[in-house]
Amino acid sequence: MNRTDEALDIAVVGAGTAGLYCAWRAVTGTMREGSAPVAAPRVGLFEGSSRLGGRLYTVVPEGARTLRGELGGIALMSGHPLLMGLVDHLGLAHEPLSGGDPNNLFYLRGHRFTAGDWSKPEIVPYNLSAEERGRTPEQLLAGAIHAIVPDAARLDPRSWDEVKRSLSFGGRPLRDMGLWNLVRGLVSPEAFRLMSDAGSFRPQFENWNAAEALPDLCADWPEGSRYERLRDGYEALATALAAGVRAGGGVIEVGHRLRVIERTEGGEGGTARPHIRDR
Ligand SMILES: Cc1cc2nc3c(=O)[nH]c(=O)nc-3n(C[C@H](O)[C@H](O)[C@H](O)COP(=O)(O)OP(=O)(O)OC[C@H]3O[C@@H](n4cnc5c(N)ncnc54)[C@H](O)[C@@H]3O)c2cc1C
Repeated sequence: MNRTDEALDIAVVGAGTAGLYCAWRAVTGTMREGSAPVAAPRVGLFEGSSRLGGRLYTVVPEGARTLRGELGGIALMSGHPLLMGLVDHLGLAHEPLSGGDPNNLFYLRGHRFTAGDWSKPEIVPYNLSAEERGRTPEQLLAGAIHAIVPDAARLDPRSWDEVKRSLSFGGRPLRDMGLWNLVRGLVSPEAFRLMSDAGSFRPQFENWNAAEALPDLCADWPEGSRYERLRDGYEALATALAAGVRAGGGVIEVGHRLRVIERTEGGEGGTARPHIRDR
C-alpha cells in the first residue's frame, strides 16, 4: 500500500516515545492560527516495525503479577519535570525504583559487598585517593564534572553553549576531547577503573565528545533527583500516548516505513510528499 495519496495535515514517522508524543500533542493540543482555534488536524503516525514504543519495551514474565522486565528504558528521573508532568497527566502509576537499594550486591576484584558499603573505604577494593574514598561511582563522576565546571548543576542550555565553546582542559578545548580522556585527567587511575567497572551506565565511558557529554550527563541526573519507575513498565507511557492519539482521531499504522520524502515546489513554501509503504 502506498499512503502518499492520503491527505494528512501532519504525518509523524516513527512511533517511539518522540513520535507518539508529537502525534498526541497534535491531536490533543489546542491548535490556533493567530488567536482563532482551527480545526483539529488530520494526524497519521507511521511505524516501520511491527510494534509501538520503539526503545521503550516492557515484557511481562509468564505468571508474574507485578514483575516487569525492561528491555529498553527503565528509570524516570524525578527531576525531569516535563516527563513527570506527562506521566501524571496521563494518570500512570509510578513509584521509587529500588536501583539505589543499599542491599544491592557488588562483586568486584574478588570481593563481595553491598551498595551500603561504598562509604566504607576499608571494604571497597580500590586504592582511591583520600578525597575519593567513601564515594559511589556516580558521586565520583559528579565530583569530576564539578571539578571542571563548578556550577554545572545550575547552568541553563545557553550557559552550557558558552562553556562548550570556551572551556579547555590541559590546554586542549573540551570540544576536541573524548569524555574518558577528560575524566581520566580529573580522577585517580583507580577511581577511573572503579567508575568503569561499577558505574551504573557503561555508555558514559564510550568516548563521546566531552563538551557534549557534560551537559548531557548533568541533564540526565539533575541534582537531588531520584529514580522512579512506572508500575506497569515504561512501555505503559507509549501505550497511553497511543490510546490518546487514537481517541483524538489520529491514525496509527504499524509496518509502515518511510522510504523517501519528495519535496515539490510551488504553493506556500512548497509541500512535502512522504512515501510510506507497508512491508
Ligand atoms: C537498553 C536501554 C536502556 C535505556 N534506559 C533508559 C532509562 O532508564 N531511562 C530513560 O529515560 N531512557 C532510557 N533509554 C533511552 C530511551 O529508551 C530512549 O531515549 C527513547 O525510548 C527514545 O525514543 P525515540 O522516540 O526518540 O526513539 P525510538 O524509541 O528509537 O523510536 C524510533 C521509532 O522510529 C521507528 N522508525 C525508524 N525509522 C523509521 C522509518 N523510516 N519509517 C517508520 N518508522 C521508523 C523505529 O522503528 C522506532 O520505533 C534506554 C534505552 C535503551 C536501549
